[in-house]
Amino acid sequence: MKQILNFIGGEYVPAQGGTWLDNYEPATGKVYSLVADSDERDVALAVESAKQVSVQWAQTSVEERCAIMLRIADGIEKKAEEFALAETIDQGKPLWLSKNMDIARAVHNFRFFATEIVHFSGASHSQNTSINYTLRSPIGIVGCISPWNLPLYLFSWKIAPAIAAGNCVVAKPSELTPMTASMLGDICNEAGLPAGVLNIVHGLGNKVGAAIVSHPLVKAISFTGGTATGATIAREAAPQFKKLSLELGGKNPNIVFADCALEEAAVQSARAAFTNQGEICLCGSRLFVERSIYDRFKERFLDEVKKFTVGDPLEPKTRQGAIVAKVHYDKVLSYIELAKEEGGNVVCGGKGVIVEGRCEQGWFIEPTVIEGLSASCRTNQEEIFGPVVTLIPFDSEEEVIAMANSTKYGLASVIWTENVRKAHRVAAQMESGIVWVNCWLNRDLRTPFGGVKQSGVGREGGNEALRFFTEAKNVCIAY
Ligand code: NDP
Repeated sequence: MKQILNFIGGEYVPAQGGTWLDNYEPATGKVYSLVADSDERDVALAVESAKQVSVQWAQTSVEERCAIMLRIADGIEKKAEEFALAETIDQGKPLWLSKNMDIARAVHNFRFFATEIVHFSGASHSQNTSINYTLRSPIGIVGCISPWNLPLYLFSWKIAPAIAAGNCVVAKPSELTPMTASMLGDICNEAGLPAGVLNIVHGLGNKVGAAIVSHPLVKAISFTGGTATGATIAREAAPQFKKLSLELGGKNPNIVFADCALEEAAVQSARAAFTNQGEICLCGSRLFVERSIYDRFKERFLDEVKKFTVGDPLEPKTRQGAIVAKVHYDKVLSYIELAKEEGGNVVCGGKGVIVEGRCEQGWFIEPTVIEGLSASCRTNQEEIFGPVVTLIPFDSEEEVIAMANSTKYGLASVIWTENVRKAHRVAAQMESGIVWVNCWLNRDLRTPFGGVKQSGVGREGGNEALRFFTEAKNVCIAY
């Protein structure tokens, strides 16, 4: 069986402890590879290898760093089919989605930050008697910890700016989806990335992740994952005064006003709810619809939802693949049961699906639409992170803004209206780091990305990421 090894100091090595974790293919429910079950000894080795090359990499010119990173992007692109297949088998998402979204975006992440660093500059401030200039230096060794929903997409979204800024990285992908990150090692070697600049340590969050966070030489942590894990990391990192970027959970409102372009709103709202099995932190899982168009919108929306055919992720016609893990499958189904207990009416889906043939033991759930719940019930307050959306009618702008903002989360909001004044007015009042008007998941990598409230601390993207991965030092020179 394929063994997924750590990548430390430019070499693939097993975990020091010699133990392995089972890695499942969600679509079949079967173990198909083994992943290194690392611990703090492996993290210590990775930090040591990063330390060896840290000064050299920080002094490597930005042009050279850019050239290497562009070659990494090319290397992934050349093997895009292979990467996409690996991502789909590991994560359960449709193959076409892996190719068009995840792998394409991983390539884009490397290209974007390869070139962004060349244009990154410090500021200068002059006064009558002096001039200040601000140096932006690499931090040194940084930790990057990413989740299972968009494996290579989010892994590269962190390590690309970290490396571009001149840092060495100790990274941990989710142990549920380690495959594509592990394939990156060869690509980095071929691209000429010096050994030790990127180190990948596989294993469990409470062992490997915790060891990265607590290691005294790891000076900054960029984390994407659940809010509870984010809180644990913050508690650990705070006494060591580490820089922290936390991209956490969401319970995003999608608001459909009566004056929207209904056809487009219905099609895109289904996409926002069910893309990637609803396992995207940005998915619109609470769908608020103005009462005067509620019935009409619901009918059109349900027609779209029915197009999300559940099936073998390798089949081109599949719109919705498998849920990443049995434990997550059970969690999503338990939330559907909770919704019923809370008085919800399941108008579409609501059950697990058996996909005949090679996938009959896989973890599939129907795209599920629930109505009749209050905005304050648990189903509408807690993150489900699966193919479940609730429909909630509203009567006024004030009412919907209050309901939309009523959760502890604040990642993304979506607004559908043809009224430009209303769009600006409502967008300004959304308690979220991102607002999409008449679109969803429209991403420009230069823009700040992140959440407010319990959806996170800090911003990624563009210059924000480069600022996070550098330390500012002000130099003041008297005339
Ligand atoms: P988790 O928080 O469970 O895990 C995220 C990563 O952290 C994994 O690699 C995990 O390892 C690791 N980890 C777990 N415990 C610790 C610890 N004590 N110290 C350090 N690392 C640890 O999240 P999921 O993987 O379940 O991902 C889903 C969550 O991610 C959802 O809440 C979703 O909203 C959020 N998310 C947020 C995004 C954003 O941009 N705001 C984007 C995408 C997802 P292991 O796998 O072994 O547990």
